[in-house]
Amino acid sequence: MASTYIEGFHDLGVVEKMCYTPLGNTGMKFSSIGFGASPLGNPYTVKIPSDEEHEACVLKALKSGINYIDTAPWYGQGKSEEKLGKILKEVPRSSYYISTKVGRYERDVERMFDFSAERVTRSVDESLSRLGLSCVDIIQVHDVEFAENLEIILNETLPALQKIKDAGKARFIGITGYPINTLREIVDRSTVKIDTVLSYCHLDINDSSLLDHIAFFEERGIGVISASPLSMALLTSLGPPVWHPASEAVRDTCRKATKYCQEHDVDISKLALHYSLSQGKVATVIVGIDRPLFLERNMEVLHNKLSKEEEEVLQKIQKEFFPQGVSRTWEGVEVAKYRKKLKARQSELQG
Ligand code: NAD
Repeated sequence: MASTYIEGFHDLGVVEKMCYTPLGNTGMKFSSIGFGASPLGNPYTVKIPSDEEHEACVLKALKSGINYIDTAPWYGQGKSEEKLGKILKEVPRSSYYISTKVGRYERDVERMFDFSAERVTRSVDESLSRLGLSCVDIIQVHDVEFAENLEIILNETLPALQKIKDAGKARFIGITGYPINTLREIVDRSTVKIDTVLSYCHLDINDSSLLDHIAFFEERGIGVISASPLSMALLTSLGPPVWHPASEAVRDTCRKATKYCQEHDVDISKLALHYSLSQGKVATVIVGIDRPLFLERNMEVLHNKLSKEEEEVLQKIQKEFFPQGVSRTWEGVEVAKYRKKLKARQSELQG
């Protein structure tokens, strides 16, 4: 049984079916599915679930043996952390691990990113206060590729996080971002010990490139967390939110794959989560879960195998819609858009 199991809190029958895997050298063992709390800040615009649904979802997830929650100040500009703070009051602290982030904050382009030591240090205190905690398990630098240059991350942000760790406000230090080579470069060059990396949308049916990098991180004792198995809702029947960075070509391919699944009465999200989980290469796969129905469906993927028909549909969409070599990424797209907007704003201000 996992060390996070607490009699009287957990639903033993369900927890017994959960797998727990060591996260690098941290000593923590994470549940196969992690709870992605970004939708608690409502970044997915279609049909926003109520606070009650969010609360039911988090509590049920934890009682079912999910023992890892990921959040950030960026998610709803503090809303996700605030909601978690209220919900977690009812939950024994030793039943879960939690990570939050520093560096990405507001929607306004000028205040969106700040990786300075001063802001990062203040941010951790703000997060702890919203969460109602004295310490998080992992403090991560959020979306490192958006920094003006990596020297800031290496010489300011990470040393500031080391001080936070020394002060007992976080147990481990992590980095997150989309371009895996940037994560690798930071790992290679950092003088501060990096315990974990969070990569997203790269262990999915439409892009499994994280697999090429697992050995690099494993050799260095770094725990790998993979996020967004549904490719940030590209692989759902509702489709992606307006802010999704994928090109029209990528969206179109995913739409066609979804339609193919629907025609065969198969849920593409089920196949997508199954694909990510069945790679067996990372400690945990974080899914954004914002309503009890999705939690139930995602737990079912964990507990039951795919039917023969679902297996066939999965193979078919992999072959037909997501073959190797098709351009499946949006690397650089968001960063270029952000820099362009920032430059325009700065020119405006200069008159
Ligand atoms: P995701 O691929 O997990 O998709 C989430 C979306 O799919 C939500 O709209 C959710 O309502 C929906 N969904 C979930 N289960 C479903 C189901 N069974 N059927 C249909 N729809 C379903 O994307 P995500 O939420 O962006 O990523 C997961 C988590 O990973 C985030 O919440 C966040 O914690 C983390 N993350 C971190 C970073 C970063 O640090 N840079 C980036 C991306 C994600």
